[in-house]
Amino acid sequence: MIIFFDKISSTAKPIGLSSKGVKLEGTLKKSGYHQVTLDAKMDGSFNLDCDRCGESYIYNMDSKLRLKLSDLVSEDKDDLDIIEFLDGKIDLLYILESEITSIESSFHYCDKCDGNDEEFEVEY
Ligand SMILES: [Zn+2]
Repeated sequence: MIIFFDKISSTAKPIGLSSKGVKLEGTLKKSGYHQVTLDAKMDGSFNLDCDRCGESYIYNMDSKLRLKLSDLVSEDKDDLDIIEFLDGKIDLLYILESEITSIESSFHYCDKCDGNDEEFEVEY
């Protein structure tokens, strides 16, 4: 889902899309001359492999996503929540898929291993 930067006004524009079993729903709203705020929630589930036991399990995603989008190179390099879309096109699928990828590539345990360190150490 591609949305042109200059089509977004200060009136919140509803957006919605899904990928890999996760639904992103929310609004886009102009929040500055070169800035748009995405205010959305992600809802859904997908499969992950546990980093401890290797079992595949279903990860339920239910989280809020609030990002600033800009069509200029951000001057504030400390603000990690700004995503730049220098061609003036906001790619919402890219945003959703990178959120999913960041969960997939971070450390994650299944329910059995999560908060169950002691038991595991005994087994080894
Ligand atoms: Zn596990």
